[in-house]
Amino acid sequence: MIKKDIDWGNLGFGYIKTDKRYVSDYKDGKWDDGRITEDDTITLSECACVFQYAQTVFEGLKAYTTKDGKTVCFRPDLNAERMMTSAERLEMPVFPKERFLDAVRQTVKANEEYVPPYGSGATLYIRPFMFGSNPVIGVKPADEYQFRIFTTPVGPYFKGGAKPITVRISDFDRAAPHGTGDIKAGLNYAMSLHAIVDAHNEGYAENIYLDPGSRTKIEETGGANIIFIDSDGNMVTPKSGSILPSITRRSLMVVAEKYLGMKVTQREITLEEVAGGAFKECGLCGTAAVISPVGCINDHGKEIRFASGMEEMGEVTKKLYDTLTGIQMGTIEAPEGWIFEID
Ligand SMILES: *Cc1c(COP(=O)(O)O)cnc(C)c1O
Repeated sequence: MIKKDIDWGNLGFGYIKTDKRYVSDYKDGKWDDGRITEDDTITLSECACVFQYAQTVFEGLKAYTTKDGKTVCFRPDLNAERMMTSAERLEMPVFPKERFLDAVRQTVKANEEYVPPYGSGATLYIRPFMFGSNPVIGVKPADEYQFRIFTTPVGPYFKGGAKPITVRISDFDRAAPHGTGDIKAGLNYAMSLHAIVDAHNEGYAENIYLDPGSRTKIEETGGANIIFIDSDGNMVTPKSGSILPSITRRSLMVVAEKYLGMKVTQREITLEEVAGGAFKECGLCGTAAVISPVGCINDHGKEIRFASGMEEMGEVTKKLYDTLTGIQMGTIEAPEGWIFEID
C-alpha cells in the first residue's frame, strides 16, 4: 500500500478532506444499499430537520496500522451499538450494527492511503453521523435521514509527551438529569461551546461538569470521561445516568482489572472527596487522546492538586495508558473481539 505523502508526525487535529466517503439514505421507511462517493458536499432544504431542530447524532473512532502492518479499528461494534442508542433517543431510525461495521470497513478501505503508518503516532479519524434531512417545520422527527461516514487523518495527540493539564469546575451544566447526556448528539456539544471558549480564555484546558441535580458530584468533561486512582492504586470512576458511556473508559476498566489486577469501582464521586485528597491521580479518557492526565482541578480559585504533579502522567495512569495503547497497536494481546481488521 502506497501511503499519501503527508508529514504524519506533524499533523494536527483538523479536517483534511480525503478521497472517499460512505453515504446511505433512509426514505419510505428503509435504508438504501449505501455507496462510496467522492462528493464531500451535502445539499439540503433550508428547512431540513437537522438545521431547525438539531436532529443529529454522531460517533468517533480511529483506524490505524498495527505493529504487524494490519489496518484495524478498535471496538467499532461498541460505536455501532452506541449510535443505535443515540438514534433511538432522538426518534431517528437505527442504522443496523452489521451495516455500520460494513460501512466503516468500506470507508477505511477506500481511504487506505490515508491510514498513517505504524509508529507515526497519527491515526485516521472516522466520523460516522446521521441527520434528519427532509423539511420539518412543526416540531416532529424527520421522515428522511442520511447516514454518512467521512475520515480525516489526525496527528499524534501528545507531541513530545503527555503533560498534565489544569481543568476547572464549570458553573455551566452539560446535561440535565434524565436528559440526553448519555447519548452522542451534536446538541450536547452546541451548548458546551460557550463553556469551553470561556475555559480556554481563563487558561483552563477543559471544564469538569458536576451533576446538574445537586451540583455536588463529578460527571465528566465536554468530550471525555474521568478516571481517578485512589491511594491504594485502584481505579474509581463516576457513575451517573447523564454521562456518555465512553468506550475508552469502559476498555480501561477491563484493562485495570484483567491486565493490571486493580480493583475497579464505578460509583458516585463527590467534589468534596476529590478536594479532600481521596485520589492521587486523575485522567480524562476518550478516543482522541486515550488518557489526558489531569494535574490540577481549579474549583472557583481553590486548587485541587493531585500527588502525581504537573510534570508527567501519574504512575498508575501511565500503566493503564501503556497497556491500552499496547493492546490497540498489537504489541499486547487483546481481549477477544477488541481489534477489528479492515482487510
Ligand atoms: C465521545 C465522548 C466521550 C469519549 O468516548 P470514547 O468512546 O471513549 O471516545 C466522552 N464524553 C463525551 C461527552 C463524548 O461525547
